[in-house]
Amino acid sequence: MAVPKLEDSLPQAGEGSQNNKAKTTTISQPTPYAPSDFLSRVDNFAIIESTLREGEQFANAFFSREKKIEIAKALDSFGVEYLELTSPAASRQSYEDCKAIADLGLKSKILTHVRCDMGDAKLAIETGVDGLDVVIGTSSILREFSHGKDMQYIMDKAKEVITYIKSQGVEVRFSSEDSFRSDLVDLLSLYKHVDALGVNRVGIADTVGCATPLQVAELVRTLRGVVSCDIEGHFHDDTGCAIGNAFSAVASGCTHIDTTVLGIGERNGIVPLGGFVARMYACNPEYIKGKYDLQALREVENLVADAVGISVPFNNYITGYCAFTHKAGIHAKAILNNPTTYEILKPEDFGMTRYVSIGHRLTGWNAVKNRVEQLNLNLNDDQVKEVTAKIKQLADIRPQTMEDVDRVLRDFHNEVHNITSSSSSTTSSESAKAQTA
Ligand SMILES: [Zn+2]
Repeated sequence: MAVPKLEDSLPQAGEGSQNNKAKTTTISQPTPYAPSDFLSRVDNFAIIESTLREGEQFANAFFSREKKIEIAKALDSFGVEYLELTSPAASRQSYEDCKAIADLGLKSKILTHVRCDMGDAKLAIETGVDGLDVVIGTSSILREFSHGKDMQYIMDKAKEVITYIKSQGVEVRFSSEDSFRSDLVDLLSLYKHVDALGVNRVGIADTVGCATPLQVAELVRTLRGVVSCDIEGHFHDDTGCAIGNAFSAVASGCTHIDTTVLGIGERNGIVPLGGFVARMYACNPEYIKGKYDLQALREVENLVADAVGISVPFNNYITGYCAFTHKAGIHAKAILNNPTTYEILKPEDFGMTRYVSIGHRLTGWNAVKNRVEQLNLNLNDDQVKEVTAKIKQLADIRPQTMEDVDRVLRDFHNEVHNITSSSSSTTSSESAKAQTA
């Protein structure tokens, strides 16, 4: 199997082939969590954001033209390299919306997703998009129960459609559907065939969410040895492996990953934009900070959550309400001394704030001392230990809010210093300010 010399032959994600206008960023020093494999693309990959295609297949999704444009603009300013839109062949409205978004002149390149069919491809070209993502089912189960065509038919059809799209001067990706349940020999010969036809990317799709990170790594490595074009990965999350699979793919040579905001999509969805960004940031923060406006992530997620009538999950990557909350006393102490002890992501890089929760029975005196200092109270270590015991006692009965804790601290402080002032309650704005300290 011929392994191409990557540096010479590969178009680079984000700077590569033809009229690719996606941005590049200087490669910076990766962290020890980045793979050191020579095939790895963790510091040179692109995101194909598919909220306006895969995301439209989410049970709750119905995007008006205005909403699609709002989401497209938000993702464009976040900095994703590509936006993928629903096929113009889906409906009249989809066709018009595709045209309208392609006309916006965004920095992100606009792609649309079409079946391997001349009619679909011609319609897509009319909308003025920058590229077409062509897909066809290759697994025997799809060949039997979906389109009913054999591999020779798929090869011939692929040639006809790809040749036409290329003649129109736009990007073309060719992907199989359900790649992980397709015959490997069929798959590789098909990809070799379309690579020779000059596609920009071949795509592998875990359409049913059955793949594991090890299987993904193996397939991408094998494919890397067979084609010289870019490789795109599309991973569903039915069994919880989507982000792991996407990471494994990139670490093995995959150049483009499909995401949607909050992972919305068919069934329980695909790789979430925020989770994938978190994973890649852990490998190389500088590269990710240089490429994407991380502070805008929360706003994009809120926009999409509102549009589809869901809330951001409590345990969401980066923006979940407890993503940067530290509770255990032993963690709180270390976090206050050096946040990297228990944080792989810096909350401030994402416009988020660290919160040390202290109103509970697991609290520790170091965390309480930090709060005492935030409130400008004058207590020595022994006194802080004493008031910590009091907080633990109260928290054994019921959890204490920040206001409750502040009241206990102020009352204790006043008692110690014989102050009889009645201004012992904390206003919520004071409290909020202190929490962000
Ligand atoms: Zn999908």
